[in-house]
Amino acid sequence: MNRAWPWWSSAAAAGVGGVAAAAFGPALTSLAPRRRPALFPRLCGVEPGAALALTFDDGPDGTSTPAVLDVLARHEVRATFFLLGRHAAAHADVVRRLVDEGHELAVHGWDHWALPLKRPGTVRGELSRSVEVIETLAGVRPRWYRPPFGVMTTEGLLAARAVGLDTVLWSTWGVDWAARATPESVVRRVLRDARPGGCVLLHDSDRCSAPGSWRTTVAATEALLRHWEGVGQPVGPLGARR
Ligand SMILES: [Zn+2]
Repeated sequence: MNRAWPWWSSAAAAGVGGVAAAAFGPALTSLAPRRRPALFPRLCGVEPGAALALTFDDGPDGTSTPAVLDVLARHEVRATFFLLGRHAAAHADVVRRLVDEGHELAVHGWDHWALPLKRPGTVRGELSRSVEVIETLAGVRPRWYRPPFGVMTTEGLLAARAVGLDTVLWSTWGVDWAARATPESVVRRVLRDARPGGCVLLHDSDRCSAPGSWRTTVAATEALLRHWEGVGQPVGPLGARR
């Protein structure tokens, strides 16, 4: 979420496609697919098979990302992190830890501006720069792209394709970015729509969320991993399934 645009973030976050579509008109390719994993399985990160993909957006951050990594390490679970290019460049040490611990790196954009608000002609350059930063630090070229707020434009779709990224949204989320979120509410929300083969969205940074919300995410991640261990649900990065 972007605190500079509260009307936008709440509209996008609530999945109020009509409101956002009316605001951005033809530049908007689609808001609906992320809510319809049955109709758009690939776009929502749904794959045949049992494994649930665990993904984190909006990092890396020097404080909150390591806290999330500690939880994942304790449970020996790997995940996919959708990074913001400019913050990856500024937190090379955190990116290296992500890589060292076997996590998958993906692209969430150079910054967190919604694509429909960007100057035309800028997205491809920004994605290519983000891919470069991540590839240089990780030694592996990222495969996935998730646009900020899950909102795609035609330009964004073409730009992602041009730089070799496959766009993936999510099939369930924790709404962990909200100020009212608690570890219990996040767990409940994730599990409501979590199916084998689905894709979970959480946030390893509060830079676009309510301040301090990452602590809720850390606690919820711990509880979710315990739950999935208990029921024998395999969890891992997106790339382990495709
Ligand atoms: Zn985001």
